[in-house]
Amino acid sequence: MLAQDLETRVIALEFEYLEPKTMSELLSILDKYRDDAKLLAGGTDLVVGLKKGFVKCKYVVSLKHLKKELSYIISEKDKIRIGASTTLKEIEGSQLIKDKFQALYEAVKDIGSPMIRNIATIGGNICNASPAADGVVSLLAFDANLKVVNSSGERLIPIDKFFLGPGKTVLKPNEILTEIQIPLPPENAKSKFLSIKRTGISVSTACAAVHLQLKASTINYIRICLGAVAPTPIRAYKTEEYLTGKELSVKNVDEALKILEGEVSPITDVRGTAEYRRYATKGLVRKIIKMLGGV
Ligand SMILES: Cc1cc2nc3c(=O)[nH]c(=O)nc-3n(C[C@H](O)[C@H](O)[C@H](O)COP(=O)(O)OP(=O)(O)OC[C@H]3O[C@@H](n4cnc5c(N)ncnc54)[C@H](O)[C@@H]3O)c2cc1C
Repeated sequence: MLAQDLETRVIALEFEYLEPKTMSELLSILDKYRDDAKLLAGGTDLVVGLKKGFVKCKYVVSLKHLKKELSYIISEKDKIRIGASTTLKEIEGSQLIKDKFQALYEAVKDIGSPMIRNIATIGGNICNASPAADGVVSLLAFDANLKVVNSSGERLIPIDKFFLGPGKTVLKPNEILTEIQIPLPPENAKSKFLSIKRTGISVSTACAAVHLQLKASTINYIRICLGAVAPTPIRAYKTEEYLTGKELSVKNVDEALKILEGEVSPITDVRGTAEYRRYATKGLVRKIIKMLGGV
């Protein structure tokens, strides 16, 4: 029997558990152990991976003593900054997020269950790099930037350049994601996130976020972002490009959805067939555009 088939509470792996007290201690640990170390935030992905044998490491490095440094939602003139260890519950509870970043609010409020959202973090949702990560799909719709840090400095990575494939990102072994920066949305823009899940606490079979700004009935700005239909969460760039500058009409949306079909590459797995995902994704995007734009 394979480890992943076992329903067990036991982690059948020996590792050392470390609890750095400061950021510089954490960065030294990452410099020293690199690929042998795994960061532990809420653990709702990592611990499942360790139990099922998908994830292997020699050191589990807890972020629990860095909560103060890594957990905040700060509003600035042109952007908001969210600390990587901010929990989904904290994001769900932020009136600022609910008012300005509706799709992010809608994405996080349905992740897992209240118990999961109480400990799961937005940084974990991003760095786990699941193609179905609801939080990531919504952050793509807001052109978020990710601040990553190592012992020699920091860099800012646009979120659409962060993912390389399932479970793979551009993060170097000695880097940590510390902050998500989201520019304030354009004036009068609206956004929405919808997903299809097998049960209330299941991972999405398909999900979509759209961020739309209309000038009269013309689409001035649009982001169409999709989850669980490609090796990473994606933006439907060609569909966005087709719609930008066009009138928001049923005919144009129909045409756009034909383009969108060519931008997805879903697989068949336990959550749904590729054919279903392709069909459902078009339905989600059509529904969101209708809810946001009335057409
Ligand atoms: C029952 C259940 C239901 C779920 N439902 C959903 C769902 O509906 N939608 C959804 O998107 N997800 C879902 N998830 C997945 C999970 O809860 C989320 O992805 C969550 O946000 C992960 O956050 P975490 O803090 O628990 O991450 P962890 O498990 O602690 O970490 C995840 C990965 O990210 C790395 N990491 C964490 N923080 C950092 C950091 N700051 N810098 C660099 N690397 C870091 C870790 O090393 C690990 O590889 C579900 C999980 C469970 C168990």
